[in-house]
Amino acid sequence: MSVEVVADTGWMDDGACVGVDPDLFFPRRGDKDSVAAAKAVCATCQVRVECLEYALENSERFGIWGGTAEKERRRIRSLRRRARHAAEEES
Ligand code: SF4
Repeated sequence: MSVEVVADTGWMDDGACVGVDPDLFFPRRGDKDSVAAAKAVCATCQVRVECLEYALENSERFGIWGGTAEKERRRIRSLRRRARHAAEEES
């Protein structure tokens, strides 16, 4: 028997990006202006934390989520991994 975990995505309805062209959040590589524009929308968003955690948990590789680009999310995942390992070694 397999168990499927379905993430709660109800927060998406409250995103500041609702009604904004989704392409804005998937800029072409190196398009700093589009990245900045997407992040500016995220900066006003009331569900930014939920969005970022969703992207981290689901290893979203593309796009701007919770005001972060993939490179930034990789860094967050790496820092969290190191913190987890450090905590495990202390216990
Ligand atoms: S943080 Fe950005 S991408 Fe996420 S829901 Fe809010 S506006 Fe949309």
